[in-house]
Amino acid sequence: MIIMKFGGSSVKDAGRMRNVAEIIIKNIDKQPLVVLSALGGITDQLIDALTYAARQRPKKAKKEIDRIEQRHKKLISELFTESKYIDPLYQLIFQEIEKLRVLLGATETIRVESKRIANAVMSAGEILSSNILTQLLKSMGIASYCLDARKMIYVEFHDQDVVPLLGEIKKRAGKKIQKYLKDQQILVTQGFIASTRDGAPATLGRDGSDYTASLLGAALACEEIQIWSDVDGILTADPTIVPEARPLKTMTFDEACELAYFGARVLQPATIQPALESGILVRVLNSNHPDEKGTVIISGSDTDKDVVVKSIAYKENITLLTIESSRLLLSPKIMEEIFMILYRRGKRVYAVSKSATKVSITIETNSDQKSLVKELAKQGQVHVDQNKVIVSVVGEKMRKSHELNYKILQILDEESIHIDLISQFANQISLTFIVDEKDIERAVKLLHDKLIS
Ligand code: ASP
Ligand code: MG
Repeated sequence: MIIMKFGGSSVKDAGRMRNVAEIIIKNIDKQPLVVLSALGGITDQLIDALTYAARQRPKKAKKEIDRIEQRHKKLISELFTESKYIDPLYQLIFQEIEKLRVLLGATETIRVESKRIANAVMSAGEILSSNILTQLLKSMGIASYCLDARKMIYVEFHDQDVVPLLGEIKKRAGKKIQKYLKDQQILVTQGFIASTRDGAPATLGRDGSDYTASLLGAALACEEIQIWSDVDGILTADPTIVPEARPLKTMTFDEACELAYFGARVLQPATIQPALESGILVRVLNSNHPDEKGTVIISGSDTDKDVVVKSIAYKENITLLTIESSRLLLSPKIMEEIFMILYRRGKRVYAVSKSATKVSITIETNSDQKSLVKELAKQGQVHVDQNKVIVSVVGEKMRKSHELNYKILQILDEESIHIDLISQFANQISLTFIVDEKDIERAVKLLHDKLIS
């Protein structure tokens, strides 16, 4: 059995959904369990509707729900002509829309966006898309069944976190698969949505469908997990800056973590951890070019000896804060105090660098910057540098290539690209530094040109 996960952009309209069905059918001999996201943009619209309801804007909320309803009905009318396929889907839409109206009504009354209600609201997107795809496969002559992910993906809430219960998932998913696989050629289920043991609605967080795929892959000990999106796997750089960027054949889990952390818009590596821990191969593929091999993510180290630098990622909208204080020399407590301030404000700290009396920290630029700087000023003198970008050069073999750091700095220096802060982690699989926003295109192009292509 394999898991095939398709994201929202792969099923955003009738043409794309037919394309997905064809890709699935091509893999029929591998017994695919399909994990599907909501149609592209629907989850955002559902959240918007909820926000309008909480802010007492029922007309706007209704308009959003009407648009969601119309979009699904239009899709159905483009995919099917026979009422045996259309009627059950119209009935499902009716039920889901009714449920949404009730949930939004309740939200309007209580005037806040309850998390539980949000989970129930958001689930409509995946329920609709997965059932439409199942009908499409049936209309193409393939025996298919839509499994309810809320009866397989069990989670617990721990404060702010949602923790999947892998043992429970194994049990439930195993039973369901056994029951339905006998008579069906293809099984479909929803990504992203889950429930607690007592049936309360839950979700695995935005973009959570990859997580569902990974959990099911691990629970069912699948041969392979395929993550289908609309890029040719994981690329050597952002193609909008570097048109000659190309997909990587392989990438290690650690490299994927570095890349995602520093801005590459690839899959969230933490979500594929359950799969990799179980030794299951994860492949990132493009539904526009289904015959390409994509990128394989491996859990150990890479066997490709020749590739040193794998990819260059960058993250824009960064502020560099430098705090200067002689206390840094004397008292370790000040570091704790600085980081507590950032933690309390929910700031994610990217690269950090410390000297005897200074500590430099990079965070995303935000609207509360002024009050943050005011609070930090109690710890020392604060210098603020905005309009910065973090660049990260990533590759496992960088660990063994001692002259590479020097080369990177030389390439940038020759073109007079100023660097503010350099940081390298103990595992040494990446070199991270800060440049001015105005230099980012030049820096990424140059590094790609000299180190990768
Ligand atoms: N539909 C959900 C989202 O947009 C989950 C996913 O697409 O992975 O976040
Ligand atoms: Mg996604």
